[in-house]
Amino acid sequence: MSDPNTFDLVILGAGSGGYACALRAAQLDLKVALVEKGELGGTCLHRGCIPTKALLHAAEVADQTRESEQFGVLAELAGIDMKGVNAYKDGVVGRLYKGLTGMLQGNKNITIVQGAGRLVAPDTVEVDGRRVTGRHVVLASGSYSRSLPGLEVDGEKIIASEHALTLDRVPESVVVLGGGVIGVEFASVWRSFGVEVTIVEAAPRLVPAEDVDCAKAIERAFRKRKINFKVGKPFEKVEKTGKGVRVTIAGGDVVEAELLLVAVGRGPSTANLGYEEQGVKMDRGFVLTDERLRTSVPGIFAVGDIVPGLQLAHRGFQQGIFVAEEIAGMHPAVIDENGIPRVTYCDPEVASIGLTEEKAKEQYGADQVRSYNYNLGGNGKSQILKTAGFIKLVRVADGPVVGVHMVGARVGELIGEAQLVYNWEAFPEDVTPLIHAHPTQNEAMGEAFLALAGKPLHAHA
Ligand SMILES: Cc1cc2nc3c(=O)[nH]c(=O)nc-3n(C[C@H](O)[C@H](O)[C@H](O)COP(=O)(O)OP(=O)(O)OC[C@H]3O[C@@H](n4cnc5c(N)ncnc54)[C@H](O)[C@@H]3O)c2cc1C
Repeated sequence: MSDPNTFDLVILGAGSGGYACALRAAQLDLKVALVEKGELGGTCLHRGCIPTKALLHAAEVADQTRESEQFGVLAELAGIDMKGVNAYKDGVVGRLYKGLTGMLQGNKNITIVQGAGRLVAPDTVEVDGRRVTGRHVVLASGSYSRSLPGLEVDGEKIIASEHALTLDRVPESVVVLGGGVIGVEFASVWRSFGVEVTIVEAAPRLVPAEDVDCAKAIERAFRKRKINFKVGKPFEKVEKTGKGVRVTIAGGDVVEAELLLVAVGRGPSTANLGYEEQGVKMDRGFVLTDERLRTSVPGIFAVGDIVPGLQLAHRGFQQGIFVAEEIAGMHPAVIDENGIPRVTYCDPEVASIGLTEEKAKEQYGADQVRSYNYNLGGNGKSQILKTAGFIKLVRVADGPVVGVHMVGARVGELIGEAQLVYNWEAFPEDVTPLIHAHPTQNEAMGEAFLALAGKPLHAHA
């Protein structure tokens, strides 16, 4: 293409959704302009998935050191050096960032346009006065940490996840507002670092989007770990004190702490970007799309956290790939939102896919749904790791598995098999002839399938 400002597609935002779309489109020989005002990689790489999981790993090392005597290893936890923890975390992010930057910058089909973009016509994004035009535009501007009305995040005593990731000290105490994924992950890290943590959640249980058995198991585990939590109690107000914050919740309960982390969800970053002016239909800031991720304006697509649904990096990746293939005329299969795996990386982890037992009963009728809980207590590798938990399978009548729900150390790594089984609509009977290596935690999944198929080995039916 001769005009340096004309492309096959212009992508607004280079986070998980945007950069995945750019890479796949470039592979398909489309010319791409990738507009980014911050750092390539977006939230997940710089302020989300990767740095939080690095902190969680440091937390696991702390716990293992503290508990080493249980394994006959005598080690003492002398303390947490946040400078060292941050150096480790930043090193991981830095290496991945370098790799991603090299990959995008070195791609002859991708032009990176650095700066804040705005949609000024259905086929044009303006960046610092430069107008970049494409046959197609992909909106991928991501999300921001939400707060509640009247609750102002100051980055000092009242913080959001991005501030929590750059703390240079271990606080003495924290109130975590929100018992969803982000809230419980930070609560878990801080507790492992020796912090007094209280989670305040308005819903009746922690991790409220998960199967009720998972929520109960997390609450049990957190109680054991001395993580305080108050569920079914909406936040009322926060006052700043000399030492930190005083948080009042419904019923008049008051909790004082050094910090308040606001983890009440993420809103779409779509304000003042020209989307509505160009006719893109929105709902409370989210961009509405059909199942092929087309917005209401022909030629404009949307991917990632700005599209209503699960706000997860791997959903963004898949949507980005989908849109690139759609634009290239490949007619890819529509993405099944229920087939997106979910992992919460607190200790113990929660991993799930498909329907909770409650949802399955609503959808198929209570008498049609069968479930089986395999207790990790019967799994050799889990005994070796000293982790408790379970693998729960949900099946409709004699049909396929419609939900897999797990709690336990490292169960996030088991979600791969669960998502294949779910997405291939496998029956437990299809899985039972497949051999699971012994001793692995994965074997527990094999045992659960055996039991649900009516031939339990190391379990009761
Ligand atoms: C603390 C935390 C932990 C998380 N952990 C996980 C996890 O473990 N697993 C998981 O799957 N997901 C996790 N997520 C969610 C994940 O980070 C998001 O789902 C993912 O980043 C969404 O990708 P995206 O492309 O939609 O948006 P983003 O990654 O937010 O990227 C959007 C990009 O657009 C850019 N942009 C915005 N406006 C403009 C503009 N006007 N001009 C130019 N550029 C613009 C932004 O700078 C940004 O780089 C976590 C999130 C947080 C906050």
